[in-house]
Amino acid sequence: MLRLSTAVFDDLVAHARQEVPLEACGYIGVRESTGVEAIRLTNIDHSPEHFSFDPAEQFAAVRTLRAQGLAASVVYHSHPATPARPSEEDHRLARDPSTIYCILSLAGPSPDIKAFRVENGRLAAVRLEIDT
Ligand SMILES: [Zn+2]
Repeated sequence: MLRLSTAVFDDLVAHARQEVPLEACGYIGVRESTGVEAIRLTNIDHSPEHFSFDPAEQFAAVRTLRAQGLAASVVYHSHPATPARPSEEDHRLARDPSTIYCILSLAGPSPDIKAFRVENGRLAAVRLEIDT
């Protein structure tokens, strides 16, 4: 189960919209099961269908979150034109069972976000709530 603050959710949506038609990606810092801070990272693939982190930025983001006492345990990326479901590549690249993977879709009339965790080598849905 993961909760996101409204501020983080709004930030993810803003980031995703800014990067259209490319996928946006980044980290979310978590305190007590709630995502409280998003850090935007560069999608070095510059692609509408997949993403890769810049390793140096990724390292810096993890360090920044940990310095604030947050767990760097959630990564996010956007699907500009497809639903908030993992692609085959998302299944293949998600390897860390301690990470929650959020996918934010802009395909529908309003943004849709879902969370997943690796189970038996595939991404399985995790309950996600947005604080109101
Ligand atoms: Zn994806």
